[in-house]
Amino acid sequence: MRIVHVSSEFAPLVKSGGLGDAVGGLTKQLALLGEDVHILIPKYNFLKTNGLPKNLHLIDMGPFNASALYGFPDDVPRFLHFCKASKEYLEQHFPSIDVLHLHDWHAAPLASLCRHAKKTVLSIHNLEYQGKCGIQDLQAVGIKEVELFQGTDPRYPESYNCLKGGIESADEVIAVSPTYAKEIITPEFGFGLDQVLLKKKPIGIVNGIDREIWAPTTYKSTDSPEKIIAGKQKIKDLLGKKGVPWIGSITRLVPQKGPELILAGLEHTVKKGGVFALLGSAPDEMRGPYEKLKQKYAGHPQVLFEIFFNDELAHQLYAALDFLIVPSHFEPCGLTQLIAMAFGTIPIVRATGGLKDTVNTQNGFTFNDYTPTALCHAIDEAMSLSKSAYHTMIKTGIESDLSWKKPALEYLKVYASARRLAKK
Ligand code: ADP
Repeated sequence: MRIVHVSSEFAPLVKSGGLGDAVGGLTKQLALLGEDVHILIPKYNFLKTNGLPKNLHLIDMGPFNASALYGFPDDVPRFLHFCKASKEYLEQHFPSIDVLHLHDWHAAPLASLCRHAKKTVLSIHNLEYQGKCGIQDLQAVGIKEVELFQGTDPRYPESYNCLKGGIESADEVIAVSPTYAKEIITPEFGFGLDQVLLKKKPIGIVNGIDREIWAPTTYKSTDSPEKIIAGKQKIKDLLGKKGVPWIGSITRLVPQKGPELILAGLEHTVKKGGVFALLGSAPDEMRGPYEKLKQKYAGHPQVLFEIFFNDELAHQLYAALDFLIVPSHFEPCGLTQLIAMAFGTIPIVRATGGLKDTVNTQNGFTFNDYTPTALCHAIDEAMSLSKSAYHTMIKTGIESDLSWKKPALEYLKVYASARRLAKK
């Protein structure tokens, strides 16, 4: 089956968060299953283009110039241009496509632009980001309004909403966990699109992780708990902080991720004698307060505080930490809790979205209320684990099947059964 994925991210080459990991991991697994898989991503001007996989296609982004993936006033026109160029590329190079699989708003307009794919599937990795713009933005990149079937924003009728158009035009819509699939059809989590999604009945499939990329170097998943703990100690020594236990967070620092709870977790951990490591990437407009906190904790023996995106440090932290906190407001799937488990690090998560679907009393700790008290209570519970219960929990996580094998098979089922819509 020829399956073409279109995405703004593709790990490890280009990523800002879980979207990149998911597209990189799923496409690799589908290819391993023998499918003819291709991936289209934008030809960002900061990309190094040598040694790329043969099935990765770089598509023109137009006369725009961005130094990072997102966060610019012309984000929507840039990705509209990417979609238009992708449509032309697909028509020319892939006259036959069995499944066109689009990811998030950046690629969603292709559901109506690209008419020749047999089936179109749209994955929603985060409903908060929808890609809204004015009709003039469509015209500016040479897209006729009529080509973008049903994209009028339900709350702002003068706006075009890339994700909404994709939801309406795709044959099947996937959310990245079963709980998130249920949450997004409610006004609380629907970001204005709950009614549109309710009609579409999204299917929930939990992401996997690529265990070749997410593997510790100082211990193995088959090691005894003692060996795993000794392997963690080697990285702790390297990072040079002192305290027990090590708790941390590796995250984008945006409201969704519960930054104020993360900071409460930091203070609580330090008070209890532990080390807290925060590796956060903050959008430019939100950096200020975090930079101040970074200065406050500079040289603190129990705090590691870094405000940037650094994959190497992320790997070291997943390996060093004893516990990882994920106190999100909402979480479509969440990958950091899965990666943590693959490193024998126990997740402490708020029970929402994919966090609820993947963390349970066997492999971690959950809490319900979005409050510092609830998080700190869960941290206290984790800290009071007996040695043998701690060992069992580490092994449960590290030995569980977190790979893409099962999710990829579920995707294949959706591809096979997608209810073909009559396209206009
Ligand atoms: P989201 O996609 O909402 O950011 P996920 O939990 O799905 O959240 O995925 C986050 C991915 O991004 C993980 O691979 C995580 O390791 C990575 N990540 C997040 N913040 C950072 C950071 N500051 N530095 C390096 N990697 C990060």
